[in-house]
Amino acid sequence: MKLNDRGLLVVISGPSGVGKGTIRRALFNMPKHNLVYSVSMTTRAKRPGEVDGVDYFFVSKEEFMKRKEEGQFLETAEFVGNYYGTPLDKVNEQLDLGNEVVLEIEVEGAQQVKEKMPDCVMIFVVPPGKQALYERLRRRGTESEEIIRARIEKANREFQLAHLYDYIVVNDEVHNAADRIMAIIRAEHAKTERSIHKYMKMIEEN
Ligand code: 5GP
Repeated sequence: MKLNDRGLLVVISGPSGVGKGTIRRALFNMPKHNLVYSVSMTTRAKRPGEVDGVDYFFVSKEEFMKRKEEGQFLETAEFVGNYYGTPLDKVNEQLDLGNEVVLEIEVEGAQQVKEKMPDCVMIFVVPPGKQALYERLRRRGTESEEIIRARIEKANREFQLAHLYDYIVVNDEVHNAADRIMAIIRAEHAKTERSIHKYMKMIEEN
């Protein structure tokens, strides 16, 4: 018997370069889950190997702004010169179907989601140490020195925001971090406050 009609909204966030994307991919490769990834919209240029509609919906700045004015986003953020946003209609559609919707977004947008949908599950991914994060940002190698420096500065400010989250997950090994996130999602799903109404109704009817 299903105790929750509506799925969970799971926000995976954390400092720039911590490995959120890699963890998210590992999470979706795990067997037997009903997670749905919310594909974001962005104005940044496509990186080699990225696919439109899978990694992001790549749009022009004009189109992004038009959609923003029309209220089409759950949240938006500017990140190192580009815009990113979560399309609202798809999130609601999937939650209504009872699926767990996963957002992988930076911290500014995560705060907006918390304000608009307070029953979301907020997960903050942290590196095992600051040095590990800096090395990862440099190793990525797809950006100029200027952009890397901007991302490091941003990450240093973002470390301070951990207290706004429900859970902190250390990314020591990708599969460990993904396992921890899956455990959090399963436990949150079973929380009494999320299912008590439906459970009591069932008890009263039988
Ligand atoms: P990247 O350009 O490396 O793909 O992503 C840069 C940052 O933007 C990452 O921290 C990523 O998690 C975040 N991001 C991706 N999509 C969204 C979104 O829809 N909203 C927000 N606020 N951040 C996003």
